[in-house]
Amino acid sequence: MHAAHLRSFFPCIGRTLETILPGSCALCHDESHNALCVACSLQFFANIPARCEICARRMPHPHTKMCGTCLRTPPAFDATIVACDYAAPADVLVQDLKFRARLPLAQTFGQMLANVMRKQLASPPEMIIPVPLAEARLAQRGFNQAGEIARSVSRHTDIPLQMRACVRVRDTQPQAGLPLTERQVNMRGAFTLRLNASVRDQHVLLVDDVMTTGHTLNELAACLKRQGARRVTNAVFARTPEK
Ligand SMILES: [Zn+2]
Ligand SMILES: [Zn+2]
Repeated sequence: MHAAHLRSFFPCIGRTLETILPGSCALCHDESHNALCVACSLQFFANIPARCEICARRMPHPHTKMCGTCLRTPPAFDATIVACDYAAPADVLVQDLKFRARLPLAQTFGQMLANVMRKQLASPPEMIIPVPLAEARLAQRGFNQAGEIARSVSRHTDIPLQMRACVRVRDTQPQAGLPLTERQVNMRGAFTLRLNASVRDQHVLLVDDVMTTGHTLNELAACLKRQGARRVTNAVFARTPEK
């Protein structure tokens, strides 16, 4: 695949940030007008493997639509799309965004997700809601990485963004610090919808940076369904592969 082909694959790379944020590629550090250069985007993100349509777990056969877990116990969300696995080098990029505030990466992640959505979603969502951070963590970090990615998805799809529709009512322990078995309990009752935000009969797109067990997204999707959401699709930049 040539660079020109890649540009048609990620049509806005090379335009949005080109004029305002000249800098270097976050991976190879070569000069690049985008957070990722064309060669790195091509090498690491052009391949889209077969995944479960509901939870985006990798599937061994491209013709199987759902994994056994989703068949046995369907989650509250209806579909998940991801841009890549949470593995090298995407893990470093996520950490650069989250802990080193490299915000142009959120633009790139959102653009990648918008492209995957165009290819994989039969019916487009009607509103975008980012997974919220707890207020204390938001104050400490200064931004919500999921919100920044959601802003970019909204810009590239023209789907309206409801940045503050959902709030975390409990400041749960960070999921990353917990054993997998404790994560579901940790998330229970963690979210609520603001009174003036209506999701009734809507197809909602939930945006996050990383999906590991899916418990956070499941809890949020359950909250939206209780409030009448018709369908919930997750758009996550990177999914942790199965061990
Ligand atoms: Zn590069
Ligand atoms: Zn699944």
